[in-house]
Amino acid sequence: YRSYRLAARPQGAPTADDFDIVSKPIPTPREGQAVLRTLYLSLDPYMRGRMDDAKSYAPPVEIGGLMVGATVSEVVATESDAVAVGDVVLGYGGWAEYSVEDAAGLRVLNPDEVPMTTALGVLGMPGFTAYAGLLAIGKPQEGETVAVAAATGPVGSAVGQIAKIKGAKAIGIAGGEKKVALLKEFGFDEALDHRGDDLRGALKAAAPDGIDVYFENVGGPVWQAVLPRLNLYGRVPVCGMVANYNGTAEFAPAGSMEKVMRMSLTKSLTIRGFIQSEFVEAMHDDFLRDMTAWVKSGDVKYQEEVVDGFDNVLDAFNAMLEGTNFGKTVVKIGE
Ligand code: NDP
Repeated sequence: YRSYRLAARPQGAPTADDFDIVSKPIPTPREGQAVLRTLYLSLDPYMRGRMDDAKSYAPPVEIGGLMVGATVSEVVATESDAVAVGDVVLGYGGWAEYSVEDAAGLRVLNPDEVPMTTALGVLGMPGFTAYAGLLAIGKPQEGETVAVAAATGPVGSAVGQIAKIKGAKAIGIAGGEKKVALLKEFGFDEALDHRGDDLRGALKAAAPDGIDVYFENVGGPVWQAVLPRLNLYGRVPVCGMVANYNGTAEFAPAGSMEKVMRMSLTKSLTIRGFIQSEFVEAMHDDFLRDMTAWVKSGDVKYQEEVVDGFDNVLDAFNAMLEGTNFGKTVVKIGE
């Protein structure tokens, strides 16, 4: 079976030269393990960070190491009672056609209830990130205004729709007309294009009463446009800064940090970074219960882009980071 191994640390956007495709025999499971055939691989922005040799909340992928990632897979062999052959499970098989994993860590899915790909998006880690970051840190109140960018992606789309469920006004920011139209289908009250000429003016018109919660996914010029519009006691869950994950953006003009500090003082802002895993114990059961109900009732809609084939993983990854994707990016690896 084939897998992507990191061959070099990318400079800017990753290229094919940064990976080796390695072929290995399909393993047999040891006690407690299951062998899984990958059906779908999730592609997420954090993977770009794992390609760099920088200190972060998780260690980088070693040179020669398997590219990590969440997967929906079929159990093909098992030495554990936790799963049975034929089960469809959520695991962490990485950019590979097969994986061998501890069976106890797998979540058995019910594909008859909801499509299995949702376990990688709206009902998976990205959806949970939105739920936990928005409710635990953003704390939107009825009548308040919530803004989010990368708003058609799995995190942003859930942030806006949960904000609506909680009675807030939702402003979505995304790249391009097609995504703006999708935001309206999702029920966002306002949909803005950050690639348009005047985001600051558009934000002012869309949020005449200011912004109470800005769920930060991107950083860069979007953050700079939002900052002056934040209200007194505004909350900013800092979830990601995808505008600069390739390290190429000119991102921090001189004095910008002082400006942020000054505004956080004069507006009594709460700016709080988080990694979703810190909330798993306290909130994951609630998330699965609420979000599954909302997806089934149609209160939360989602868009997925399913790219076909192991060979297209890298192109799909770059498209997701650059924004030429359309919704949660997953790659179909096996039938
Ligand atoms: P998406 O699938 O939405 O993909 C990223 C999107 O970011 C792109 O499609 C693009 O959308 C947008 N984007 C890229 N560059 C820019 C830019 N320069 N300016 C504005 N927007 C840009 O990603 P996810 O929903 O999976 O993740 C969203 C964020 O959440 C990321 O920052 C990610 O790292 C973070 N995250 C954090 C977690 C945590 O625990 N803290 C967990 C999971 C995700 P568009 O075309 O609309 O611009």
